[in-house]
Amino acid sequence: EQKVVLITGCSSGIGLSLAIHLASDPSKTYKVYATMRNLDKKQRLLESVKDLHNDTMAILQMDITDQQSIGKVQRSITEGRVDILVCNAGVGLMGPLEAQSEDIMRGILEVNLLGTIRTIQTFLPDMKRRRQGRILVTGSMGGLQGLPFNEVYCASKFAIEGVCESLAILLQQFNIQVTLIECGPVNTDFLRNLKKTEVNDESVEVDAHTRHLYEMYLQHCEMMFQNAAQDTDDIIQVFMEVIQAQCPVFRYYTNSALVPMSSLKLMALDGSQYIRAMSKLIFSPAENADTHK
Ligand code: NAD
Repeated sequence: EQKVVLITGCSSGIGLSLAIHLASDPSKTYKVYATMRNLDKKQRLLESVKDLHNDTMAILQMDITDQQSIGKVQRSITEGRVDILVCNAGVGLMGPLEAQSEDIMRGILEVNLLGTIRTIQTFLPDMKRRRQGRILVTGSMGGLQGLPFNEVYCASKFAIEGVCESLAILLQQFNIQVTLIECGPVNTDFLRNLKKTEVNDESVEVDAHTRHLYEMYLQHCEMMFQNAAQDTDDIIQVFMEVIQAQCPVFRYYTNSALVPMSSLKLMALDGSQYIRAMSKLIFSPAENADTHK
């Protein structure tokens, strides 16, 4: 019997690569429901799997901010069940907090937080009934540690940590495993798709010092993506490890090099060590270079 996998956000990035990887499994272990908000973007997925049979993949429209579209997808699943739910869809937001509009902030929380919750809510009752299932969530290092100019994005991803950890405790009683795959920078459309606030706009009130620090942050970010970004293949390997594990643990980190910074938070519970280290890394890069000499 095939394992039924439903993935959100499959038009690009991690979702796209995971859908292709699972649907291409030579022994057809998986039936993938690759969902995306806008079916006009299904070309990349179709091109990569065109030699495959229909019995390993179906592409369906699903906007995680629209409960009706989630319900419609649920009713179209011919197997009548989802074994592995992958909540992956998400959007980034960068810029000084005082320049973020209420609408944009709501939009991010609507997708990253409520959209993920809504998706889990829809498929959870059946998993509970069957006493079986896995929920995989694409997490972010920004869900474990604050990042300047990412306040609302981090808030949405921190919130996801709370949702998943709370669920994981309960769902053990139902033989359902919840797992977060914590990613650092990944080479996807994420940077292009993320909502970036332009502070050159005169109507936005952002002081000169903040603008300068934002420039520094953007440079840091560009450097991180150039030097440390992983390819989706590396991320998919971790997803496969989780999918194939007998009993996956709660958190997996795709990039172990980023863990020490994050764990500073736990070493000094008053929070000061992490804040000092991240501040130095982003806003005093020259000083950092000196200490390496
Ligand atoms: P991406 O932008 O290529 O993929 C995100 C996908 O989510 C897109 O296909 C987009 O269309 C989809 N999406 C957005 N809103 C949606 C909605 N309302 N309904 C359904 N789909 C929607 O970027 P990615 O890197 O593949 O991102 C996947 C996940 O990984 C996100 O949750 C992101 O926060 C997380 N992540 C990415 C990075 C990174 O550096 N790329 C780092 C950490 C975490």
